[in-house]
Amino acid sequence: MNKFEGVDYFNVDSLLIEDEIMIRNTVREFVSKEVIPNIEKHFRNGTFPAYLIPVMAEMGLLGSIFPQKYDCADLNYISYGLINQELERGDSGLRSFVSVQSSLVMFPIFKFGSEEQKDKWLPQLAQGKKIGCFGLTEPDYGSNPAGMVTKAIKTNGGYILDGAKMWITNGSIADIAVVWAKLDGVVRGFLVEKEFKGFTAPEMKGKHSLRASVTSELILDNVFVPEENLLPKTEGLKNALMCLDQARYSIAWGVVGSMMACYDIALQYAKSRVQFSKPIAGYQLIQEKLVFMITEITKAQLLNLQLGKMRDNGTAKHFHISLAKRNNCEKALEIARMAREILGANGITDEYPIMRHSANLESVKTYEGTHEMHTLIVGENITGISAFE
Ligand SMILES: Cc1cc2nc3c(=O)[nH]c(=O)nc-3n(C[C@H](O)[C@H](O)[C@H](O)COP(=O)(O)OP(=O)(O)OC[C@H]3O[C@@H](n4cnc5c(N)ncnc54)[C@H](O)[C@@H]3O)c2cc1C
Repeated sequence: MNKFEGVDYFNVDSLLIEDEIMIRNTVREFVSKEVIPNIEKHFRNGTFPAYLIPVMAEMGLLGSIFPQKYDCADLNYISYGLINQELERGDSGLRSFVSVQSSLVMFPIFKFGSEEQKDKWLPQLAQGKKIGCFGLTEPDYGSNPAGMVTKAIKTNGGYILDGAKMWITNGSIADIAVVWAKLDGVVRGFLVEKEFKGFTAPEMKGKHSLRASVTSELILDNVFVPEENLLPKTEGLKNALMCLDQARYSIAWGVVGSMMACYDIALQYAKSRVQFSKPIAGYQLIQEKLVFMITEITKAQLLNLQLGKMRDNGTAKHFHISLAKRNNCEKALEIARMAREILGANGITDEYPIMRHSANLESVKTYEGTHEMHTLIVGENITGISAFE
């Protein structure tokens, strides 16, 4: 297959500034050289390519939107989106790692942490010296985290946390977990360090999706968490949901990378695969699929760009992010399936990345709010009537 040149049917690049294009191209090259040649092996073995963490840290990809005083790159939201897009062209697992570290760990510390917590954790997380995870989902509370049963009880000098979290990205490799628990009935965020007694994070095995990503349970068996590890500015579930908005934003961009990877390969394959004496790209039914793909990619790119501008100028609301996450994940999955069809039997092999992207996208469509939840969020916004409690 030829070198990846990008997918830009509507000259969306002309709407980006020079710095954004430079960042995008740097990450694109990194993914082509360092990720794509090795990622299939990791997916097959069910391992996360942790050796890439220091490289990504050095490139400024961890917590890239936060200020330089915390060793971060202080980029805008469009650049952050482009980083996620390029990483997910490699693999959703790698993008998930960066999303979690940046949006679900560094963001709550930056937004709801004390000055001491920020000074202590943000530089180390930006440098990749410490890894974080975000524990919200529980075995019995996924789409409805308000029902969580993990609880914190005030004790001398701190809190006792008791409960369990499930499906936690980075859990087993994390040095620090942002754990959400109810204190006197109010959801608060706590920084649980891996050494704390009673805290374990066993890895969950048997995934057919996001195999190059660590997913874990978090078990909190009467864990003492000192006072200084409570995120002081958390005051309810809305703070956890603000973190999810950040992560959903990165997903909306990320899946465009998967779309571009699948489209690029399907187009090249269709032009070179000959059946009935001509390339299959010359058949109307194949062209229809390719046109669907390029149309949806273009729409998603423009949607993301406007969302990024709104995020940068402070006008993006949670329902805007929901619409983009919902649409782009759905379309990415449709594109991956169509690309698989275009490649025929070859599409099922790991010589091509399509089944890997397709399998990954099943998780991406589900996590950070399922497709249905985002439907209900946008539905509530446009009708003014909530479909859930
Ligand atoms: C690989 C992976 C990584 C993850 N990483 C993290 C992480 O790092 N941290 C974290 O906290 N969580 C994480 N999650 C969890 C994820 O966010 C949840 O799986 C997700 O929120 C859905 O919850 P659930 O799986 O319990 O599904 P459920 O909530 O049980 O939903 C099952 C189905 O019912 C539908 N449904 C539920 N309620 C309604 C309703 N009112 N109306 C219509 N349909 C409804 C859902 O849309 C879904 O289709 C991860 C999940 C995966 C798969």
